[in-house]
Amino acid sequence: MLDVNQTVPTQALIGGAWQNADTGRRFDVRDPATGHVIASIADCGEQETRDAIAAADAALADWSAMPAAGRAAILRRWADLMIERADELARTLTRENGKPLAEARGEVMYGASYLHWFSEEATRAYGDVIPAPGADRRILVTRSPVGVCAAITPWNFPNAMLVRKAAAALAAGCTLVAKPAAETPLSALLAARIGIEAGLPGGVFNIVPGTDAAAIGAVLTASETVRKLSFTGSTGVGRKLIAQCAPTVKRVSMELGGNAPFIVFEDADLDAALDGLMASKFRNSGQTCVCANRIFVHDSVKDEFAGRLAERVAALTVGPGDQDGAEIGPLISEAAFAKVERMVSDALAKGGRVLTGGAKHPAGDLFYQPTVIDAVTADMDVMREEIFGPVAPLAGFATEAEAIELANDTEHGLAAYLYTRDLGRAWRVGDALHYGMVGINEGVLSSAAAPFGGVKQSGFGREGSRYGLDDYLEIKYMLMGGLSA
Ligand code: NAP
Repeated sequence: MLDVNQTVPTQALIGGAWQNADTGRRFDVRDPATGHVIASIADCGEQETRDAIAAADAALADWSAMPAAGRAAILRRWADLMIERADELARTLTRENGKPLAEARGEVMYGASYLHWFSEEATRAYGDVIPAPGADRRILVTRSPVGVCAAITPWNFPNAMLVRKAAAALAAGCTLVAKPAAETPLSALLAARIGIEAGLPGGVFNIVPGTDAAAIGAVLTASETVRKLSFTGSTGVGRKLIAQCAPTVKRVSMELGGNAPFIVFEDADLDAALDGLMASKFRNSGQTCVCANRIFVHDSVKDEFAGRLAERVAALTVGPGDQDGAEIGPLISEAAFAKVERMVSDALAKGGRVLTGGAKHPAGDLFYQPTVIDAVTADMDVMREEIFGPVAPLAGFATEAEAIELANDTEHGLAAYLYTRDLGRAWRVGDALHYGMVGINEGVLSSAAAPFGGVKQSGFGREGSRYGLDDYLEIKYMLMGGLSA
């Protein structure tokens, strides 16, 4: 049945061994472009999760004691092998997630860039010597790995969301138990196999795929052994997991949902703003947490901008991700498709105007036409919720203050974008936006060198950059006394 590629594992990875679920249960993975079953995967639950935690615990002492340069060499080899096998990883990713092949390849390279980045950061977990309040004492600060960590990741970037957590955790000297999304376990399993080939010792990186996310999550969060949970997914599930981590006072990093504003001022370079918006809005068919979700354009340029946007959007090529030239693939599931249909109907019922698209696309059951809706208002679902589809809602604004107010009118605070050629305005508005990341005249802002993460109900913690390692390190202070002659 597995027609993805015979090298993709279909079992859990526990303690360096590939294993079936104790119950023998399996679950199907489907290609969202066709609905066909492409793989049958071990359906793990509580027992396998406990086994994986025990394996990660057993591997912790040796892994954390390995000199950082040794861990770095393995991570670097892992990255290099991922890049060598980028085509295989990308094809697997496209089959289970649906995104165009070029985007899948970009995601694999992006995932590998975190392994390279953290292979270097691994050797820079510096401590401190702090001036002490007495001459006979020294204050020493060291940083040590948090311990066994858990990661739960979503389907929209099935390679990169997992690899960027693993890169930071493993670089810091932690070991990891990961649960990938049930829709897209293959990319995680293949990346793990490549990690083992690169030299990861058994137990350092464990993967428990399964359909009972609540059961696996309950074991991971309740465990006293697991000292940290890093989660990427929806705000609703994130809230639950934070509560579940409270009894064991676990550290948590939460990369949650967004509702990104994209503001185009009257002095913006409209060509650049259009390019940035196309890249931000339509990547992964609009299914990214940093996708432009609400587009605010100054009244004086809105009609021109809307017309040009509609032309660009109408010209997008829709089709299965492995079709030549495809730019927009299917949505991930029937539920995702129904949500987009519901949000567009809501906008139209409340006075929104479709400039292009607005309906199902004939390419298949889960394909939605790339869509632009003008004249949206704050009471519409498209303004209040993450759309997670190829739908661009547009509204006008009159003043800078109004743009800022509209942009900040959400519980989320992940990414925001603004286009202006006025340097003063760029700083003013950038400072006033309550977001963890702001793209100024840029529509794509993620890279391994930058701290990725949100504020407000988009979560906390940062992935990438030198700050990313801190999420997996504890600070220890030692006071050395008795130094007087
Ligand atoms: P989701 O429903 O929250 O699922 C994410 C992960 O959590 C999946 O592995 C899922 O497993 C698991 N899960 C679901 N319920 C759980 C529970 N009760 N206990 C433990 N685990 C549970 O999110 P999604 O719809 O797949 O992903 C899209 C969301 O992720 C969007 O909101 C998006 O903005 C956000 N996201 C954020 C970032 C960021 O960096 N801030 C990046 C990418 C995506 P199953 O798949 O098996 O249900």
